[in-house]
Amino acid sequence: MTAKSMMPYVEGNSAIRAMFEEGARLAEKYGRENVYDFSLGNPSVPAPAEVNQAIKDIIEEEDSLLIHGYNQSNSGYADVRETVAQHLNSLHGTRFGAQNIVMTVGAASGLNVAIKTLLDPGEEILAFAPYFVEYGNYAKNHGAVLKAVPADVVTFRPNLREMENVITEKTRAVIINSPNNPTGVIYGEDFIKKLAETLKQKQLELGRDIYIIADEPYRELAYDDAEVPYLTKYYDNTVVAYSWSKSLSLPGERIGYLVFPSEMSDFGNAIDAANIANRVLGYVNAPTLIQRVVARCIDCKTDIDAYDRNRKALYNGLNEIGYTCVYPEGAFYMWVKAPGGDDKAFCAKAKEHNILIVPGSSFACPGYVRIAYCVAHETIVNSLPAFAKVYEEYK
Ligand code: PLP
Repeated sequence: MTAKSMMPYVEGNSAIRAMFEEGARLAEKYGRENVYDFSLGNPSVPAPAEVNQAIKDIIEEEDSLLIHGYNQSNSGYADVRETVAQHLNSLHGTRFGAQNIVMTVGAASGLNVAIKTLLDPGEEILAFAPYFVEYGNYAKNHGAVLKAVPADVVTFRPNLREMENVITEKTRAVIINSPNNPTGVIYGEDFIKKLAETLKQKQLELGRDIYIIADEPYRELAYDDAEVPYLTKYYDNTVVAYSWSKSLSLPGERIGYLVFPSEMSDFGNAIDAANIANRVLGYVNAPTLIQRVVARCIDCKTDIDAYDRNRKALYNGLNEIGYTCVYPEGAFYMWVKAPGGDDKAFCAKAKEHNILIVPGSSFACPGYVRIAYCVAHETIVNSLPAFAKVYEEYK
């Protein structure tokens, strides 16, 4: 018999599976070009050519036993971690070394390792709604409890007063995600400074460490040269979870890292625990060949202009029709108010017009929908008449 604890996931997943199946059915019936699938955050820009070249070069140039073997340390190759650390130092003026970096199986495993490292069962982790749906599952994996900080539906920026109301003597961490999935909002320096001040105060008041876990798979996807402040510079008790899934379009390769700054409290134990968490959670070490690839491609960048073009076309198109959208400053998601107020009903209605989008309820924020615009530009252009027809039905 399958574990009862898994059944709620299985039931929850059937909605996602139904969306996939529906997408495939619609594509077969109407042709793939007539189905507007905005449901997934899968990059539409191919990985830079340097990535494929690096794979070839590494296979030619490096020791086969070494590139395919277990890592000596569960944290990954020391030289790769040193390269990552020096890269961060050159960008942010930090002072990391290999000892501060743990290579991970993407941000997803990084977050699991961070939660297992920092939270005991029963402790609480806060997330600002709307937030990436998996956070709750990751917390549950380790017996931790995710508590939502209610959304500010005017600005969709985190509300610190609401956060303070949710903090208790069991709070151990606050997860923040900027640029944000699903809103595209970037948290500016003013906010980060206030967040850091508030948490420092709360640590003193409660006599316990409260960590920020900065989930940063979209760090490089910031438009108009927007600054994305580096959290460890403002708050010592920060752990950063990074990934190359979006920044180099490598989501299937499962590669990322965690940063544990030396200044965080209990650094020595935390880094040892993270190293072990990587092993005991079954990741063992991040995939080795691709570790070596990202080290060689550390300065490579994705073609953000392609996403920017989609961002502007979709935002302008939807606004003209009459939709209310948050203008994304980063990532590749548009957060849109559901006409009629019922996000699930709106998604169902959109599907009747071959548009696949995700309800805000999946991000703990009903009443809105997420449109992932990491798609071919023609998909945006061709979908706008369909979006207009859906809107008409709400008049
Ligand atoms: N965090 C957020 C906010 C995401 O949107 C995603 C993936 O879409 C992840 C984490 C997981 O990323 P990865 O593919 O690196 O595991």
